[in-house]
Amino acid sequence: MKNFKKVLALVLALVMVLSFAACGGGSSSSSDAVVYKVGTEPTFPPFDTTDDAGNIVGFDMDLIAAIGEDQGFEVTFENLQFDSLIPAIQAGNIDIIAAGMNCENDERREQVDFSTPYYESGLVVAVAADNDTILGVDDLTPDMKVAAQIGTTGADAVTELAAEGKIKEAIILNGLDTAMLQLINGDVAAVINDLPVTKAYIEKQPDAIKIVGEVMNAEAYAIAVQKGNTELLEKINTGMANIQANGKFDEIYDKWFGEEA
Ligand code: GLN
Repeated sequence: MKNFKKVLALVLALVMVLSFAACGGGSSSSSDAVVYKVGTEPTFPPFDTTDDAGNIVGFDMDLIAAIGEDQGFEVTFENLQFDSLIPAIQAGNIDIIAAGMNCENDERREQVDFSTPYYESGLVVAVAADNDTILGVDDLTPDMKVAAQIGTTGADAVTELAAEGKIKEAIILNGLDTAMLQLINGDVAAVINDLPVTKAYIEKQPDAIKIVGEVMNAEAYAIAVQKGNTELLEKINTGMANIQANGKFDEIYDKWFGEEA
């Protein structure tokens, strides 16, 4: 009888050890935390990009993951075209947009709810590094093609220039990498895009592209949720405030922008 008890105790101990191991072993799949689908468009470094292995990484990814850690939710990332992000959240296919999205935009504000902004940005004109005739947006002429990314405020700006007859054609492309490639290849005279992102492309290819002129319009990036999803929006805003207060936000900022930025 004594032996039986000993064996039973041993078996129970073993079961406990095994179940603890199972709990501690997995980071994402083992907990019962809610998992939100985060849509992004990863040709927008350093906010949304891919690493050498093709994983979606960036400032926005670390930001929403840190907010989730603070608020007890987990995230997975979905790669979508920029102009598909709002339709996807409206359809309920994704829960969150973290894509360097400018919230200072009435049309978007009608379609989604935005968090408190986390980054001040603006649009700039980029030209080929050896171009010495375009010194700013006013030097664009009616014989020029100018590119931007689909669904962005840059695309709005380029479309407006074309409608006003100030440029020949607005070239609206899916990925920003394609737009920059077209600029380098001389297929377009300029690209209108966000300042920090164009800077990141210049860092990758310093002799190919340059920024000219002043910042065209001020923008503020914010995280979006489905219209009316106040519960999730409150979690995001509270998490954002917490990580801004505890230094985590600064840590992520320094990782992606460097300490001096
Ligand atoms: N800031 C721009 C916008 O909100 C571009 C965003 C992006 O390309 N990810 O339209």
